[in-house]
Amino acid sequence: MPLTFPLTRNAAPASTERIAEIHADPGFGAYFTDHMAVATWRQGSGWGGDGVVPYAPFQLDPSCAVLHYAQEVFEGLKAYRHADGSIWLFRPERNAQRLQASSRRLMLPELPVEDFLASIEQLVRVDAAWTPAAVGGEASLYIRPFMFANEPFLGVRAAQRVTYSVIASPVGPYFPGGVKPVNIWVTDEYSRAGKGGTGAAKCGGNYASSLIAQYEGAAHGCSQVLFADAGTGVNTEELGGMNIMVITAEGELITPALTGTILEGVTRDSILTVASELGLRPVARTITLAEIFDRVDSGDIIEAFACGTAAVLTPVAEFRSRQGNHAVGSEPGERTLQIREAILDLQYGRAEDTHGWLRRVV
Ligand SMILES: *Cc1c(COP(=O)(O)O)cnc(C)c1O
Repeated sequence: MPLTFPLTRNAAPASTERIAEIHADPGFGAYFTDHMAVATWRQGSGWGGDGVVPYAPFQLDPSCAVLHYAQEVFEGLKAYRHADGSIWLFRPERNAQRLQASSRRLMLPELPVEDFLASIEQLVRVDAAWTPAAVGGEASLYIRPFMFANEPFLGVRAAQRVTYSVIASPVGPYFPGGVKPVNIWVTDEYSRAGKGGTGAAKCGGNYASSLIAQYEGAAHGCSQVLFADAGTGVNTEELGGMNIMVITAEGELITPALTGTILEGVTRDSILTVASELGLRPVARTITLAEIFDRVDSGDIIEAFACGTAAVLTPVAEFRSRQGNHAVGSEPGERTLQIREAILDLQYGRAEDTHGWLRRVV
């Protein structure tokens, strides 16, 4: 039986004025809508207990498995309001499939794609007023589906009770003052993911383990961290929460090939598709850090950027490491901005959806 997420209305929803106030300065992930979607999976009976209910804290038993063994996976996508007021999702089936893949890796149950879509669509419809107009072209409703082992039991095993939920948060443009390149710390001390590990799964544990490198980077004036492969430390992998791409003077767009330790970004995939339409040659292959640094220094790599749902494309100003710095440019590159606009134009319905990537909700 497909889940329908019946609504239990919040008796005290935010006023129109309050929502307008939040939309004026939303930040990122600071305010949440009036409702949340929930569903429970139980060994034997499967998924049920679904609903869209008033946003409220969970009550968890102190022995709840996720608090001890980190059995948790999540997703991140956005709802975009188009100029005519309609609200759309961008390739949400991809997120549904990725959540299933992440769940398999963490021994959590798979949520059917249609149930994933239903949970998000129902929540976005109910809280439609929370999806901001595209101020400056980039405000949206950030959607966070997640799932965790919610079983009061300290034994280490696949949980027999699991909670799935979706919360939503209005977000403004990632770069309110205009797109600004950031410095990237290339850590040689920490790894994000190892062979056979959880690198390709979107799980909280990966983020917890990358935090220390994030702080190491901050101490070197960097706002993001780039990780190499854990085995050799030679090959470029990705950032803590974004994929990495570089553009050569000859018009190649290079990104590390998926190895099982890299998270397969929806933005990454979309850019690889859009790039060829913009006259670039997309290439997914193994690329060493040394190649990037040498070609940045020789002026052969002219642009570099990180990509993910939250910031879309973040240009790289400089790669910094203990061995030295490699400056790409203090202004965003022309191609980077072009790709960024192309993706945003699709998401906000300003360009024709030739790939069938948009899904209307409201
Ligand atoms: C979510 C995530 C990305 C980006 O994925 P998108 O689908 O483009 O948002 C990249 N790397 C990691 C580690 C991530 O968790």
